[in-house]
Amino acid sequence: MSRPVRVGQVYRCPVCRAEVVVINAATAALEPRCCNQPMEAVRVVPVYRCPVCFSEVAVLRQDDEAPELICCGRPMEPREARAAA
Ligand SMILES: [Zn+2]
Ligand SMILES: [Zn+2]
Repeated sequence: MSRPVRVGQVYRCPVCRAEVVVINAATAALEPRCCNQPMEAVRVVPVYRCPVCFSEVAVLRQDDEAPELICCGRPMEPREARAAA
C-alpha cells in the first residue's frame, strides 16, 4: 500500500474515524497510522494558497461550486492541479 502522497489527500482512521489532510507532500512514503492501525485514503480535497502571504487552506466541504476564497484581497490559487474527477 504505497500510493503516492497527494496534497489534499484525506486519510481516515478505521477505528476512531479521525480524519487528517495532507497539506505538504514531501515524501512518497507517508503511511499515517492512528489507533495502531494504518489510516485509509478516503478522498482528495482541494487545497488553495494565497499568492501574497502563502497561507494555505484545504476545503473540507463544499457545494457543487468551488468556494471563492479571498486572502490579502486576492483570490487564492489552487495548490496543485487535481486529476479530473
Ligand atoms: Zn484512531
Ligand atoms: Zn494572504
